[in-house]
Amino acid sequence: MRPESLMMSFGYKPELSEGALKCPIFQTSTFVFKSAEEGKAFFEVAYGHRLQKPKEHLGLIYSRINNPDLEILENRLTLWDEAEACAVFESGLAAITTVMLEYLKPGDLILYSEPLYGGTDHFISHFLRAMGVQTISFNADHSEKEIIRLVQQSGFSAKLALIYIETPANPTNSLIDIAMCKKIGRHFRKEDKLIPVAVDNTYMGPLWQHPLKLGADIVLYSATKYIGGHSDVIAGACLGSNEIISRIKTLRTFLGNMAGPWTGWLLMRSLETLKPRMEIQGKNAKKIAAWLVKHPKVEKVYYPGLLKKSDPQYATFKKQCLHPGAMLSFDIKGDEKKAFAFLNHLELIKLAVSLGSTESLAEHPATMTHCDMPEPLRKSMHITEKMIRVSIGVEHVDDIIRDMEQALRHV
Ligand SMILES: *Cc1c(COP(=O)(O)O)cnc(C)c1O
Repeated sequence: MRPESLMMSFGYKPELSEGALKCPIFQTSTFVFKSAEEGKAFFEVAYGHRLQKPKEHLGLIYSRINNPDLEILENRLTLWDEAEACAVFESGLAAITTVMLEYLKPGDLILYSEPLYGGTDHFISHFLRAMGVQTISFNADHSEKEIIRLVQQSGFSAKLALIYIETPANPTNSLIDIAMCKKIGRHFRKEDKLIPVAVDNTYMGPLWQHPLKLGADIVLYSATKYIGGHSDVIAGACLGSNEIISRIKTLRTFLGNMAGPWTGWLLMRSLETLKPRMEIQGKNAKKIAAWLVKHPKVEKVYYPGLLKKSDPQYATFKKQCLHPGAMLSFDIKGDEKKAFAFLNHLELIKLAVSLGSTESLAEHPATMTHCDMPEPLRKSMHITEKMIRVSIGVEHVDDIIRDMEQALRHV
């Protein structure tokens, strides 16, 4: 069956919960063992002292290690990306930083794409560098050869330990070729040591892009966005092979940044409507992009659905994305003042950061989400004072357009 058919029931057995149709919130810190022998057996497996025996039933121990709301949610999330395993976290950044801490040690090199989500960029530029991790960045304009040369010239190519990308990138929607990144990882690989490619799939996932199928090893989500979808919860997820996720879960146990049962329950509720929500948002966004691009006060629209066949990004879009998404940015004709006039006159669309939710949101990347980025870099990525980012919601498309139309009249 397809994932949308399984989101209401997968992994949940009503008979284990008094017949409750819905998975209850298991608001408990710890779980009772039937016997000391059982407790001993659960710990042996949980701590990796031995493997689970065939047909051995393993119970729960303690909510920092496992909890039904987390495990059922993780099983459901694996379906969209066809991943072997998943780990959920109390935020997207918790998922991202846990992956980086697991794969990078002082002296190692991380190769990453720009622009990145502000929080991720900050963690790399400040925390990882201070820890002695070497960093090299590239962007959508760099070719495979150029990136390989950058890594070679750094003198740290033997220490390349993680390739981290965000595609489409926030807020420009620029695309990075995932398969190319995998090839770069193989180029620098020593013996059989994997150089994992991790993809932040928040902008497209889990419906419209499946990085594991395109060669990535790790997929990351801010589940705060489309997966949660209602602007009422902060959460994150990481997906990949059993081997990778078991390493990530071990570190998660000791960092203690797993999601709590209430977060798990909220996300399960959200997953039931994930597909219809995203489909409406995507359909709205396509119409809005086509309308915006013709508006006389709009200079440029950044939306994968508008890429021309002659654009080198077009081939990457066709290869990787099943849909152009529901995030679009545009340059207003003018400056910060004009951009602010538009934002201040929106009525239906709320002026707020975040994205992927049922309500439409607009923000000003240069002074809000991306204000931490050094100005020359920001300019080189086209994140200028005239750029506005919009996350399209599930409202009636005509109402969203009417709101933008009247706000543009004040520019
Ligand atoms: C929001 C976001 C994050 C961070 O997620 P949180 O849930 O806020 O911690 C990471 N990457 C992208 C692309 C995001 O939009």
